[in-house]
Amino acid sequence: MNASHTFLFTAIFAVALVCTMAIRLWLAQRQIRHVQAHRANVPAEFAERIDLASHQKAADYTVARTRLGMVETLVDTLVLAILIFGGGIALLVDVTGSFGASVLWQDLALIVGLALITGILGLPFAYWHTFVLEAQFGFNRTTLKLWLTDLVKGIVLGAVLGLPLAAMALTLMRLAGPYWWLWVWAVWIGFQFLILALYPTVIAPLFNKFSPLPEGPARTRVEALLARCGFKSRGLFVMDGSKRSSHGNAFFTGFGRAKRIVFFDTLLQRLAPEEVEAVLAHELGHFRLKHVIKRMLWMALASLLLLALLAWLMRSPWFYEGLFVPPSMDRPGVALVLFFMVLPVFTFLLAPLSALYSRKHEFEADAFAAQHASASSLVHALVKLYQDNASTLTPDPVHSSFYDSHPPAAIRIARLQSLAAQSNGG
Ligand SMILES: [Zn+2]
Repeated sequence: MNASHTFLFTAIFAVALVCTMAIRLWLAQRQIRHVQAHRANVPAEFAERIDLASHQKAADYTVARTRLGMVETLVDTLVLAILIFGGGIALLVDVTGSFGASVLWQDLALIVGLALITGILGLPFAYWHTFVLEAQFGFNRTTLKLWLTDLVKGIVLGAVLGLPLAAMALTLMRLAGPYWWLWVWAVWIGFQFLILALYPTVIAPLFNKFSPLPEGPARTRVEALLARCGFKSRGLFVMDGSKRSSHGNAFFTGFGRAKRIVFFDTLLQRLAPEEVEAVLAHELGHFRLKHVIKRMLWMALASLLLLALLAWLMRSPWFYEGLFVPPSMDRPGVALVLFFMVLPVFTFLLAPLSALYSRKHEFEADAFAAQHASASSLVHALVKLYQDNASTLTPDPVHSSFYDSHPPAAIRIARLQSLAAQSNGG
């Protein structure tokens, strides 16, 4: 009975691993073919505002990024296969278990060891992405020194925040009884709020400079919009995004009364004041329509279910044996590490659901922006951003349904234009 469970789980995992890889590669192939097939002409609805050279640059950039993603998919799958089927993780469990330290330290060593292995293997891709791909298309503004400094800061931050969290979770898993997963869930939710509270004032300033949005037409328009919508925040800021890249953006950070609105300097340089206003109105829409809170509630529910699942798997010998690791119920770190290694292989098929939910919110935020600012200014801003970011205007629909958190350019613009026509008509 036990042996058959073990074999079944190994088989299910192997099939899921191969299927996920195959689907990812198939989607990438589709995207490349679709983008290349539409490379010769700017789509009619954008012909007035986007020139052929920009359109072709976007196509080439999309293809180059998708190709890099394919190599990454292959390497990631291979690494996971070596760790599981090749006995890599079993060896790491064995080595860390032979330390004469307490179970907690053995488990932390296991987690850090695995994080180091995957982090080091991911470095060449991160380097290539910034210094070859982004540089080739003229987006990169990062120096090697800044990139390395960011890396070190990221590791230190990860250790300072992640290690106490891991230690707390591991201790609860061992000592809090059969309902440990409820306790760990409470800690996890608390941790999320801590990060939200620390992000604007402690974490983000480690990487960027934030200065108040200077007086001028953009500020005047933004303040009028906020007053119109009855929205209070702890200030409007400009972030020196241009230090690393020429891609532009705007976002909210913090929660409750400590909310801040942040514009990338690159965005402000590029957009006219009424376009900045329209982009902010869209972001404001996400807040007003409670998209942020809804997403957080879904995440909280999902993490509760996943922790309950982990609690069950941790007690099942076939879960360990199916992944070629000796059952280690007395070392919760083993189950934790195995769980997070195999989970993405099974959850990948849920990606279209999450993307669909996100695109629904994007349409709603656009409608909010059309109501409280100008829909045609938002169209102008989006076209500039598509052009500056070299986003493809012709994504493959199936690829898009898996990966895109935002609706395809043509559909999004068409909806906004019909909203603009409505408001002009009435
Ligand atoms: Zn949005």
